[in-house]
Amino acid sequence: MSQIVIIGSGFSGVKTIKTLRKKGYQDKIILISPQPVLFYYPSLIWVPAGLRTEADLTVSLDNFFQRKQVQHHQASVTGLDIEAKQVKTDNGVVNYDYLIIASGGRFIKKLPGIEHICIPCENYANLKSYSDKLAKLEGGTLAFGFSGNPKDPTAMRGGPMFEFLFGIDTLLKQQKRRDKFKLIFFSPAPEPGKRLGANAVKAILGEMKKYGVEAHLGHKMKGFSPNQIHTEGGDIQSDLTLFMPGITGATWFANSELPLSPGGFIQSDAQCHALGIKDIFVAGDSGSFSGPDWMPKQAHMADLQAENAVKNLLAEMRGQEASYEFKTEVLCIIDTLNKGMLVHRNTKRTLLLPKLRLLNWAKRLFEWQYMRSLS
Ligand SMILES: Cc1cc2nc3c(=O)[nH]c(=O)nc-3n(C[C@H](O)[C@H](O)[C@H](O)COP(=O)(O)OP(=O)(O)OC[C@H]3O[C@@H](n4cnc5c(N)ncnc54)[C@H](O)[C@@H]3O)c2cc1C
Repeated sequence: MSQIVIIGSGFSGVKTIKTLRKKGYQDKIILISPQPVLFYYPSLIWVPAGLRTEADLTVSLDNFFQRKQVQHHQASVTGLDIEAKQVKTDNGVVNYDYLIIASGGRFIKKLPGIEHICIPCENYANLKSYSDKLAKLEGGTLAFGFSGNPKDPTAMRGGPMFEFLFGIDTLLKQQKRRDKFKLIFFSPAPEPGKRLGANAVKAILGEMKKYGVEAHLGHKMKGFSPNQIHTEGGDIQSDLTLFMPGITGATWFANSELPLSPGGFIQSDAQCHALGIKDIFVAGDSGSFSGPDWMPKQAHMADLQAENAVKNLLAEMRGQEASYEFKTEVLCIIDTLNKGMLVHRNTKRTLLLPKLRLLNWAKRLFEWQYMRSLS
């Protein structure tokens, strides 16, 4: 019996389990993560409007693990001994025959004064505190922005920042106080959201213009102070700032011999192996995968990579050649609180559906279905 161990209970960890069982793998699976929960990040965008709480977004995996016969090892991974095939954790050592790393990414917090702004996705409490301040603010300037990892162009998360911007614009209009606020969008990228395709960038910037959002684009970030964002193109005044820094790999990677990309992620081959290591696979935000430079770090992409990793792992376990590859695809709905814009991009074409109420419902339906699949 071969022992499969998964690190991380996010989107790619869960998809790994679902695919292993779907493909008929019957032996025990061990999953290591700090808590037996999945945090549903995509719906954080609805927190400022009071539509989701921390409890809504924290999905218990107890039943799912029981149904799928997964043993949860509650711990944080601290390192890896590749030769001994042992994962080191703060709760003991876990042996593996095959390892799937799905431990996500981490924000780069190097900009001076970053403590003065809200990183909406780092923990729920930050975003709740931002939302409470916004509810009390009688007027002023709200700034929204994101930056990237200078060493890895794929390691940024812009989509949710557009959603926060458009969602808060809608919220303020619903509350009949939009006229009391100035909204600003900033990014060092001259064409933010470029990976969604040229038409999507045009549509997003068009929406900003339509809603009177001031855009500061293409200026390198220097830092933050309590009511200011400092860039090489000048300072921006802001009463409340939401900012998504670039992403890098987990700190525990440094305590392993894993091959790392310049951006700090696990370098992976087309079959999702950690480069040059047959029994270690990578899926989701943890990995640096070869492919087009618009390959997103998204839950949908994490699912595709996890599925591919499992197919190759099972092939190797059966003594067959691991030759499956994953497709690269952007699939997302940019939500505006009451409508949504669909972007679908693959290697052949880009499809952009304009803002429709139906797409807001589709995003909510997807969330409901996803969470239901884990109950
Ligand atoms: C606000 C927001 C909105 C988003 N919207 C969308 C969207 O609409 N569509 C979309 O496709 N994507 C969206 N994303 C991106 C998506 O959430 C991520 O790409 C996805 O979560 C990546 O999945 P993952 O499994 O790689 O990592 P994660 O989901 O981050 O999971 C990582 C797991 O590893 C665990 N872990 C971390 N460190 C350790 C350790 N040391 N030891 C053990 N376990 C560890 C964590 O606890 C967690 O369980 C959004 C993200 C944000 C923040």
